[in-house]
Amino acid sequence: MPARYLCPHCRGNRTRFALIQSLSQQVEKDPRTGEILYAADEWTIEGANGRPSLEVRCLLCGFTGQEGLFIHAAARQPD
Ligand SMILES: [Zn+2]
Repeated sequence: MPARYLCPHCRGNRTRFALIQSLSQQVEKDPRTGEILYAADEWTIEGANGRPSLEVRCLLCGFTGQEGLFIHAAARQPD
């Protein structure tokens, strides 16, 4: 079952959000000049334990936080 969201900041938004995901790219830099000597071709999705770490932004008030904050707020405050 998909998780419901409620913004934990304004508490008035259950419908309009932006999902934010982090991407990482491995690079090797010259320690003196800062020049990038090598960059991996791929950008990979950052995550822990095989799960992508997702942040959520409330499109009403602009609050941004970990997805879990929105899920817990929705669970604590049923409509
Ligand atoms: Zn909000």
